[in-house]
Amino acid sequence: LARNEDLATLIRTIPDYPTAGILFRDVSTLLLDGRGFRAAIDRMIATIDPVDIDLIAGIEARGFIVASAMSYALAKGKIMLRKPGKLPGNVVGMDYALEYGTDRLEMHVGAVSPGQKVLIVDDLIATGGTAQAGVALLRGQGALVLQARFLVDLPDLGGGDRLRAQGIETDALCS
Ligand code: 5GP
Repeated sequence: LARNEDLATLIRTIPDYPTAGILFRDVSTLLLDGRGFRAAIDRMIATIDPVDIDLIAGIEARGFIVASAMSYALAKGKIMLRKPGKLPGNVVGMDYALEYGTDRLEMHVGAVSPGQKVLIVDDLIATGGTAQAGVALLRGQGALVLQARFLVDLPDLGGGDRLRAQGIETDALCS
C-alpha cells in the first residue's frame, strides 16, 4: 500500500445504491482492512499541522469513524455533527438540500468556543451540501473552520471547490 491510488482500490463502488443510477463509493471495504485504514488515517494526518487545530468535527455516521481515528492520533477533542434528535443537550441545527428533499445536522450548543480552530471531517464529499451545513453550524457558534479532510472527493460534483470558496483548505485521500 505504497500510494494513495492503492488505498483507493480498497474502496469499492456499488452501482444503483441508494437509488438507480448512483455509483456509491463504499468505504466499508477500507474499514475491513486494518493496515489500509491505518495507512489512510496516517496519510490524512500527515497533511495536517496539529497547531492549526483545536477540535475535530465529524459528520454522522461514517465521518465519526474517520474523525475518531484522527482525534485519537492527534490527541484532539471531537465534536459530533449529528442527524436530528440524536443529541441530548441543547442543540443548534441546520437544514440542507439533498438531491431529493432535505436533511438536517445538529450540534450541541457550547461544544465549541468562539475562536477555536475546527477541522471538519467526513468519509466523502460530493456536492458539499452536508459539509457546508456543518461549517455553517460551527461558524454560527463562533468557530474558525479553516480545514476539511475526506477519504474521498468526487470533484465533478464540486463540493471541494465550494468549501475552498469559503476559505476552507480542503483535501482528500482519493477521488
Ligand atoms: P454531499 O452533501 O457532499 O453531496 O454528500 C456527502 C455526504 O453524503 C457525506 O456525509 C457522505 O457520507 C454521503 N455520501 C454521498 N454519496 C456517497 C457515496 O457515494 N459514498 C459514501 N460513502 N458516502 C456518500
